[in-house]
Amino acid sequence: MNIIVQGPQGSGKGTQVEKLVQKYNLKHFDAGSLLRKEASEEIKKIMDKGELVPQYYVKQLVEKFIAENPNSGFVFDGYPRTIDQYEELKTILQNKIDYVVNIEISIDESVRRLSLRGREDDKPEAIKRRLQIYHTQTHPVFEKAVAEGIGFEVNGEQSIEQVFADICRKLI
Ligand code: AMP
Repeated sequence: MNIIVQGPQGSGKGTQVEKLVQKYNLKHFDAGSLLRKEASEEIKKIMDKGELVPQYYVKQLVEKFIAENPNSGFVFDGYPRTIDQYEELKTILQNKIDYVVNIEISIDESVRRLSLRGREDDKPEAIKRRLQIYHTQTHPVFEKAVAEGIGFEVNGEQSIEQVFADICRKLI
């Protein structure tokens, strides 16, 4: 099973992804963490501003991760973030994407939760930019998945257990 999990920054996506990985024995592709670990100083500057890094860079990471984990199911977290990346992932996986889950929280709640963290890219300007990119470029991926019949949404403003139960109920 291959699942893409989306949600605005601060939606609790990371927690839900960890739970999915455990329960369904999937491999976790975490674009942001991998980039923070592997990126050059030049790429890190882009990240600190809240901008997306070049697509070829993320593509290399995802291809390597998939190749290193043959015969696995995956949860994709932080990727794809644009329609182009979504189409790219479909090609890489030969269209085997089962679900695109969107964890929905309001913009106000997202900003509130993010301000409580404190990463370099959690500064107010970068937060704003990341949310703007999320709404203009990433959310359309979910809309496309809904049109394709594989997208569903859960309410992220509930307890961790309730959000997880809502997700699992939709996975066959
Ligand atoms: P995240 O931890 O998912 O919030 O990602 C942190 C930062 O890494 C983002 O703000 C982007 O700068 C970069 N990044 C993560 N995933 C991607 C992606 N799929 N495409 C481009 N940039 C990304």
